[in-house]
Amino acid sequence: MKEPRAGETAFVALGSNLGDRRAHLERAVVALGDVTGTRVVRVSRWIETAPVGGPPGQPAFLNGVLELSSRLEPSTLLERLQEIEAHHGRGRDREPRHGPRTLDLDLLLFGERRLESARLTLPHPRLEERLFVLGPLAELAPELVLPCSGLTVRARVAELARAPAGAAR
Ligand code: ATP
Ligand code: CA
Ligand code: CA
Repeated sequence: MKEPRAGETAFVALGSNLGDRRAHLERAVVALGDVTGTRVVRVSRWIETAPVGGPPGQPAFLNGVLELSSRLEPSTLLERLQEIEAHHGRGRDREPRHGPRTLDLDLLLFGERRLESARLTLPHPRLEERLFVLGPLAELAPELVLPCSGLTVRARVAELARAPAGAAR
């Protein structure tokens, strides 16, 4: 019999700024735990962050990051993330870009994979500019080396905290 493929480490960013934000994030963690071929390894704390980019005046976000071990292909994992978003009433077609949302699940990193298709870019192209993502990621993997800057997550957080870039969400 063929050996099952070993799980690869993936990191997912979670965000919500509509409705019961904490409930959306916590239900998403449970839903991710139910995805076949995927195991939730660790979850960061939830942090409240000011919205960056998008329409003015939108409510504050609750953000966090979780670590998965997944045997799925990255594109399949993204499909599962989008299904979970849809279950939380996320209506992609009617929303302004970077606008308010019940649940946003972004695939940040999937092992060492690099991908650039119409549907999925890995690593996530804005990962290294976003304190609201790197802060929670630093809780889980402070020594992880970021693919673009070559800095550890810890060092990049310190750099951004000194000079916030105001990058878009
Ligand atoms: P941002 O990507 O800047 O955080 P967003 O999360 O608001 O923006 P969405 O409207 O949620 O953007 O997603 C737009 C599209 O991005 C999705 O339909 C998806 O196909 C694509 N996408 C590309 N790479 C990724 C990735 N690594 N994780 C999640 N979605 C991705
Ligand atoms: Ca996002
Ligand atoms: Ca997204």
